[in-house]
Amino acid sequence: MPARARPTHGATMTAMPSLFVSHGPPTMVLDDIPVRAVLADLARTLPRPRAILCVSAHWIAPRPTVSLVAQPETIHDFFGFDEALYCIRYSAPGAPEVAERAAALIRAAGLPCATDPARGLDHGAWEPLMLMYPDADVPVTQLSLVADGDVAHHMEIGRALAPLRTDGVLILASGTAVHNLAEWRAGADGDAPPWAVAFEDWLVDTVTAGDAAALVDYRNRAPHARRAHPTEDHFLPLAVAMGAGGGADGAPPRGRVVHRGFSYGSLSMAAFAFDGDDPTTA
Ligand code: ZN
Repeated sequence: MPARARPTHGATMTAMPSLFVSHGPPTMVLDDIPVRAVLADLARTLPRPRAILCVSAHWIAPRPTVSLVAQPETIHDFFGFDEALYCIRYSAPGAPEVAERAAALIRAAGLPCATDPARGLDHGAWEPLMLMYPDADVPVTQLSLVADGDVAHHMEIGRALAPLRTDGVLILASGTAVHNLAEWRAGADGDAPPWAVAFEDWLVDTVTAGDAAALVDYRNRAPHARRAHPTEDHFLPLAVAMGAGGGADGAPPRGRVVHRGFSYGSLSMAAFAFDGDDPTTA
């Protein structure tokens, strides 16, 4: 029998989705932008996870690495913002047992996986977590991106993690759907530039079609790909989420649009859910 997610509220629970969410600057947890309510509503509509595995754009390691820390520190990995943002603490407990299980799944797929005894939660993780689970009462661990890994590699890592979804673990990948730090504006909303809108349009079409091949080749196929992502760190979490969201038939999962739209000028705050069937039942 495959492991099943823990029932919540007496209901039989199917596999958790995997999620890709966009995060903005650390002020996102204070700013009045549309995605705040979207993320809060999203958490309320999901079964309550027993733990969260977060893949943030802001942890990049030479190989996949999971954090085994029992009580993660809140990392303030940004500079030049208001002092209040450096006082924020997100005090969710760690999830070392889930981290060990994730590492085992990655290794079973023939990939290396390292462990880190101390890594805390960076702002790519705690921004969406604060908005989704403000009580910080769901255990969280983080999985790193891979420094020289491409989109296909990160999708493969995601596929290895899919069985976690039937064990009540929410896979929360946090990047930004359009992310050019030379072209964002603090406090700005709406009026996104056409190149950014064109990229988001392509991304929504590709994700909702379940076109994994196009996503892997986005550098060549998507309009303005290099302007939307001068570096790939904020795009790669999407590949993990898509890989993890596949069903038992092995077909690429069609993503569901949770949110789309722009804040801070050109930052697309798009969020997607991947709801493939229970991946542990073949
Ligand atoms: Zn970021």
